[in-house]
Amino acid sequence: MNMLMLLLRNLARGPSTDAFPFGDTFTPERLRGRIRFDPELCTGCRLCAHVCAGDAIHFDETDEGLRFTLWHNTCTFCGLCEHYCQTKAIHLTDDWHLAHLQQDKYAMIEQGVVAPAACAGCGCRMTAPVPALTALAYRAGNRRIEHLQTLCPDCRRKAGVTGGRS
Ligand code: SF4
Ligand code: SF4
Repeated sequence: MNMLMLLLRNLARGPSTDAFPFGDTFTPERLRGRIRFDPELCTGCRLCAHVCAGDAIHFDETDEGLRFTLWHNTCTFCGLCEHYCQTKAIHLTDDWHLAHLQQDKYAMIEQGVVAPAACAGCGCRMTAPVPALTALAYRAGNRRIEHLQTLCPDCRRKAGVTGGRS
């Protein structure tokens, strides 16, 4: 087929590509896109930051609590954070609308603050375990486990030694 025939055939067939961004397109199945974080489910273990291939996750202690920040600009969408997060506090969505200008890169973040709790033993500030973690660790809760959850790691260790007796 010569070039002219090829050109005419392709003109008659119309576009073979998606009209996006001027028209609709599709989302591939199991696409790994924008990451969402749920502070209500986070235990503050920081395992997600430890395994992050792109060094995209950071935690800061703030007055409001433990602040989680994820930089989509450096995320490789490997999914390791979601895989290792035991409480499902972090997960990848199929939202791929992440294209941005270079000057907007610092706005491409996911953030959340894990509210602090006060230790029932010594009153110090701590990140309390979430119910989702307890459900994973123990088949059924009991009063002793519920009590241990209200303690900071130091008080929990002491309670473990004394069996909860002070
Ligand atoms: S998001 Fe998950 S892995 Fe990361 S600190 Fe919170 S509980 Fe741990
Ligand atoms: S998907 Fe991978 S690179 Fe992105 S935040 Fe999670 S662990 Fe880090």
